[in-house]
Amino acid sequence: MSGARDLAYLCRELKHPSLLAGVERLGERARAEGWSHEDFLAACLEREVSSRQSHGGEARIASARFPARKTLEDFDFEHQRSVRKEVVAHLGALDFVEAKSNAIFLGPPGTGKSHLSIALGIRACLAGHRVAFATATQWVDRLAAAHDAGRLHDELRRLGRIPLVIVDEVGYIPFQGEAANLFFQLVSSRYERASLIVSSNKAFGRWGEVFGDDTVAGAMIDRLVHHAEVINLKGDSYRLRGRDLGRVPGDDDAGTNA
Ligand code: ADP
Ligand code: MG
Repeated sequence: MSGARDLAYLCRELKHPSLLAGVERLGERARAEGWSHEDFLAACLEREVSSRQSHGGEARIASARFPARKTLEDFDFEHQRSVRKEVVAHLGALDFVEAKSNAIFLGPPGTGKSHLSIALGIRACLAGHRVAFATATQWVDRLAAAHDAGRLHDELRRLGRIPLVIVDEVGYIPFQGEAANLFFQLVSSRYERASLIVSSNKAFGRWGEVFGDDTVAGAMIDRLVHHAEVINLKGDSYRLRGRDLGRVPGDDDAGTNA
């Protein structure tokens, strides 16, 4: 019978290699279980669609440039008791991305801010959203380069088409010069148009110091928080758990009175 050869040729020609891999097994099941022709075709196409979607997810994860791979399932809510699991699970359902609202994680080092940001970002990628991840310093460098090349507006428009932008580590390094202004433009260009996840070791009350400008920081926080889930993480660093290092410095107050 030439059917198998035809299928191999047709699947190759259509660039559906995973379909070919599934057809034989699905054919056996279809015969054994008496599927209709339509059921069989639907099963083959479903297989191809889910294979494409998961490939798309991996491609989006690669292009998001996460610094590590983290999942919500790996997050230990017994260790981190200051965040309610239901709140994170609700964010994980990604309604906030559809609603173009934000998620903000505040807290001292090692409390899980980056972990949760990455895990939500990976979820978004798998659900079909494009995501871009970088630290605040990296975003500012990129925006400054675009500004110097006279294409800041284009860059913000391009970023505006990415449904979820993640800004990690606001506050570890104070911003200089135009940085506050550039960062404000990023936040304001996305306001009610596309989502941000922002994490910081500094409570909002200290963002004026971080940005070197109370007015810009205030206007930025106003836009960020208007439609946002703000999560204050507390406690000791997960990185240092079980290690007796005495008191570790942490100048921040995020998570205590944010
Ligand atoms: P932060 O960004 O707040 O400084 P991270 O999210 O990078 O901290 O966490 C530091 C390390 O500890 C990461 O490897 C992270 O996966 C892990 N971690 C932090 N909190 C938890 C937790 N509650 N459960 C599991 N792993 C955690
Ligand atoms: Mg971090």
